[in-house]
Amino acid sequence: SKLTNDDVRSLANDLGVKFIRLQFTDIFGVLKNVSITVEQLEKALAGELMFDGSSIDGFVRIEESDMYLRPDPSTFVIFPWKPRDGAVARLICDIYNPDGTPFEGDPRFVLRRSLQEAESMGYSTMNVGPEAEFFLFHVDTEGRPTTVTHDRAGYFDLTPVDLGENARRDMVLALESMGFEIEASHHEVAPGQHEIDFKYSDALDIADKIVTFRFVVRTIAQRHGLHATFMPKPIFGIAGSGMHLNQSLMKDGKNIFFDPNLPNQMSEDSMYYIGGLLKYARAIAAITNPNVNSYKRLVSGYEAPVYIAWSSRNRSPLIRVPAKRGLSTRIELRSPDPSCNPYLALAVCLRAGLDGIKNKTMPPPACDRNIYDMTDAERSELGIGNLPENLYAALLELQRSELMQDALGKHVCQRFIDAKLIEWDRYRIQVHPWEIEEYLTKF
Ligand code: ADP
Ligand code: MG
Ligand code: MG
Ligand code: MG
Ligand code: MG
Repeated sequence: SKLTNDDVRSLANDLGVKFIRLQFTDIFGVLKNVSITVEQLEKALAGELMFDGSSIDGFVRIEESDMYLRPDPSTFVIFPWKPRDGAVARLICDIYNPDGTPFEGDPRFVLRRSLQEAESMGYSTMNVGPEAEFFLFHVDTEGRPTTVTHDRAGYFDLTPVDLGENARRDMVLALESMGFEIEASHHEVAPGQHEIDFKYSDALDIADKIVTFRFVVRTIAQRHGLHATFMPKPIFGIAGSGMHLNQSLMKDGKNIFFDPNLPNQMSEDSMYYIGGLLKYARAIAAITNPNVNSYKRLVSGYEAPVYIAWSSRNRSPLIRVPAKRGLSTRIELRSPDPSCNPYLALAVCLRAGLDGIKNKTMPPPACDRNIYDMTDAERSELGIGNLPENLYAALLELQRSELMQDALGKHVCQRFIDAKLIEWDRYRIQVHPWEIEEYLTKF
């Protein structure tokens, strides 16, 4: 059962909480904090604490800057790495305008709006299980992050090889004490790369958990003298970091993606949900893969998707249908990376899936061959398109998609696109090391 304001009051008292961080994210999914002392808790719970919205990226202009924080009591947790004496807790907040209406630039509100759309169609819950990957890197003597991995450093005998595994174990312990149910944690294919999986839950809870997860992983890494990064492709030539999003819908307590009476036991609606995701895949990429660097991961050869197709057999397409059925019936979207704003990412996935269900968008047949190995002609014969090749192409798709604009709301969508076009332009005019190597002596 979910915590109430009264639970928060008594927990804060019983656990000797001294400081409370009120948290929310900007439109890029970056976690923001307003720190208060426990003396201000009543005022905070009453939704009376204000902050200057114009100081937050992508929020509002100066002339309309007063914003109110409404803490969600169900998000109350204690930071386990802080002292017990004078404990530090946090509450994730919804953001409201001075007139008491929800602020349309709040990513949490954007997700809530998509979830309401699902509810109006009878789907009580969107369940999501994320698989976030990240790298652990050494810091140099001045404390600056490097791209030297802990396992490689083992060769130099500077540090024990298991430095990363120790850090990961402490991450799991911290996350568990904060209410995460960890299903698996393992070393990934690349040196220095790790994955920690936690149990699926409803979309809003999972989006909150993803932003918390990134912050906990970075904090614990730092305490082990390491730098954790969720940058999608930190090193050329080895696998990048993804964040597969496993998704399913519930109606009347049942997983509606499961249908025991059909040959592959996947319901018609699950096929339409896949159809919707495939249809909007190119626009969705702007949100699930929101950085210049994201598109360096979406290349062939590293189990990251490039082509817009689905399969129940192999891991090269955009969507995989894992073999599990019954309550675990789900589809796995493999494009998202862990640098995305999880609230916006889930909001756009859900709206695309619901649109597929509404319009009975049948996906093309499953593609069980390795798509990387096909020729361009074979792919076009099967109608298999590809994801955008860079951030700019993805932003153009987002700009063109009415459904995605509606899912994000005009406010978030326009500010997101404006900011990302500037980011793209800053990148575009750079002279990269690759160009120097390629051309400096050639011409
Ligand atoms: P993979 O085989 O791709 O490595 P993992 O086992 O690492 O998959 O992760 C699977 C994820 O899917 C977990 O987070 C799990 O909780 C989640 N999951 C299981 N059942 C469902 C469901 N019905 N809906 C959404 N997610 C689910
Ligand atoms: Mg996994
Ligand atoms: Mg697994
Ligand atoms: Mg993995
Ligand atoms: Mg996976």
